[in-house]
Amino acid sequence: MHVLILGGTTEARVLAGLLHGTVRVTSSLAGRVAAPRLPAGEVRVGGFGGVEGLAGWIRQHHVDAVIDATHPFAERISFNAAGAAATAHVPLLALRRPGWVPVKGDRWHETGSLAEAADRLDGLGKRVFLTTGRMGLAAFADRPEWFLVRSVDPPEGPVPARTEVLLDRGPFTLEGERTLLAEHRIDVLVTKDSGGAATAPKLRAAREAGVPVVVVRRPPVPQGVRTAATPEEAAAWLRG
Ligand code: NAP
Repeated sequence: MHVLILGGTTEARVLAGLLHGTVRVTSSLAGRVAAPRLPAGEVRVGGFGGVEGLAGWIRQHHVDAVIDATHPFAERISFNAAGAAATAHVPLLALRRPGWVPVKGDRWHETGSLAEAADRLDGLGKRVFLTTGRMGLAAFADRPEWFLVRSVDPPEGPVPARTEVLLDRGPFTLEGERTLLAEHRIDVLVTKDSGGAATAPKLRAAREAGVPVVVVRRPPVPQGVRTAATPEEAAAWLRG
């Protein structure tokens, strides 16, 4: 059995580790990160060339099942996976870590896009901690606030005029996030609802400090695609 994992997340890497040795596993990475953490098993890097390209790859490499374990905000590849799996007649599962939910004390402002998140900053403060990744920062480029941008690799494209970049990769600690908010005198945090434990400490640190959080909601999983919340659940789906 040959399983294709569309990866780029911690869960995808964990799943590859779980499956490796029991079935043939190929993990696919987009190639955005300069030095990615590599999963167990075979790895291929780079785009497939849309739905048709992915369907062709599935057929050519005799893939029996596809698990879309990409980031909840990687919308295009998930859409392509749904189309390609249907075209190539292979089963598809989307592995999506659960989203975050606000708890008592949180001051969340939920928005539907990065552009909306940028607009939502009005009146929330002058110093912004932006953790939405290095892509899409153009949405904030015209903002007057000072930004601390944290990303794995340097940002691409336009960034706000007053930007300090902090290159770092999770998991992050609560203590570290508390210090970061305090040292940079952060007024407001902007995040995608990525879910998962690795980057959640910033939410708790913000809650403790009374810092409001602008949260970008996730795009939906393509219609009709079955989902699993954990790598273990995804492995059980393959066995079942
Ligand atoms: P995207 O907008 O959904 O995808 C854009 C294009 O990149 C796709 O059409 C596809 O090219 C290629 N691609 C994406 N993921 C791929 C994969 N795993 N293997 C091979 N090709 C892939 O994706 P994105 O938001 O740019 O994210 C790129 C990757 O980074 C994803 O794999 C994702 O898991 C990871 N990631 C994303 C975020 C985020 O916030 N978006 C955060 C952390 C990690 P073709 O059409 O040519 O096949």
